[in-house]
Amino acid sequence: MQIIMNSGLDTEENVRRICDHLQEVGSPMSIIKNGTGPVVIHTGDMRWGTIIFIDAMPGIARIESGSKKIDDMNIAAITRLDSPRSYRNKFRAGPMEQNMVLCSRAAIRAILNGTDPRFMVVVGPCSIHDDQAGLEYAKRLAELAEKVRDRIFVVMRVYFEKPRTTIGWEGLIQDPHLDKSFDMASGLAKARKFLLQVLCLELPTATEFVDPITPQYISDLVSLGAIGARSAEAQAYRRMASGLSMPIAFKNGTGGSVQLAVNGVVAARTLHSFMGVDLDGRVAQIKTLGNHDCFIVLRGSSRGTNYDKESIRAAISRLEEAGVCPILMVDCSHDNSVNDLGVKDHSRQGVVFKDIVDQRAFGNRNILGAMLESNLFEGSQRPEDPKDLKYGVSITDGCIGWEETEKLLIGAHSALGACAAAPVP
Ligand code: PEP
Ligand code: MN
Repeated sequence: MQIIMNSGLDTEENVRRICDHLQEVGSPMSIIKNGTGPVVIHTGDMRWGTIIFIDAMPGIARIESGSKKIDDMNIAAITRLDSPRSYRNKFRAGPMEQNMVLCSRAAIRAILNGTDPRFMVVVGPCSIHDDQAGLEYAKRLAELAEKVRDRIFVVMRVYFEKPRTTIGWEGLIQDPHLDKSFDMASGLAKARKFLLQVLCLELPTATEFVDPITPQYISDLVSLGAIGARSAEAQAYRRMASGLSMPIAFKNGTGGSVQLAVNGVVAARTLHSFMGVDLDGRVAQIKTLGNHDCFIVLRGSSRGTNYDKESIRAAISRLEEAGVCPILMVDCSHDNSVNDLGVKDHSRQGVVFKDIVDQRAFGNRNILGAMLESNLFEGSQRPEDPKDLKYGVSITDGCIGWEETEKLLIGAHSALGACAAAPVP
């Protein structure tokens, strides 16, 4: 769309008023002054109300649609974000938090290579949407983790970016006020603050990386990264994983392919080169060394669950054939929590978890751990108006509640018995 000014009335003051208004309504614009011709303002499509409003401003000759623009036709706004370095400086990991991250990454690596015999449990909300409730959860989990730590290594799910099957709230970094205002500058600040608070409780964190630039903002506070079921096949994530400094979990595909997760592990082990941003936020070529601390996660699929002995055996064979370490984690939620009616049911998670713990307790050391989606209270709610939300209840996938989480971990601790015990590091 073009706003053509009236020659002579295209004064600085008139142009500024129009631009201010366009900025207010989130419409990108560029101003063109062609020789002696009038000023032309290029903008994206405007809503009817905006056109009427602008049309009434002094100095406008006419508004024409059919802009000749080639680029940015569907861009509403491009807003600079502060650099990753400035966020890292503002919300800084002190020696205690850094030590926590280093030690917990080392513990996870030791679990992956079998030198630490503990069972790993990645547990926490499907997504963090309320830092208050998230922190209360983290405090409880830190106490519970301490009780079971001789046999179970607990990592908290701290997921800020949500991949969606179609559309929906995309997480705290994307839309921290839950109102489609997409205030990512605040989202990134909230994410760092929250991760620091969790680390302060001596609880390591796991997160899924959805936007390939996010790691630059938060990866120094993360001990385990996840590449989700919708991402694990994509080159962009495999390259990203190959350069990340923490162990990475690749989910099987939503359609059921375990091979794509195995391929992800293989691809992430080698060096890659890709475009990204450096810590100062400049576009950069990034060359990686390859990440050898990757494993697969079975999360069920549209074809059914895949936590049974046979599915696990088949997945292990695939890993062996690919020549990578034959270890895997089982996600008790997502499509592994589908009930007999074919519906995802968070209360199935406990059944899956106990089954996995039993398989492990009976000697299957290929199973390195399990994942649970858990919150203060069970179930889920629709992400409506933030002030109407129930405290401590998921706004993405259904979760088990705190009491059940506690029972499951204490139960697993005794089921795993002395065989899983390790000297506490
Ligand atoms: C999740 O962990 O919340 C998630 C979205 O997992 P998946 O990629 O397996 O669907
Ligand atoms: Mn989930």
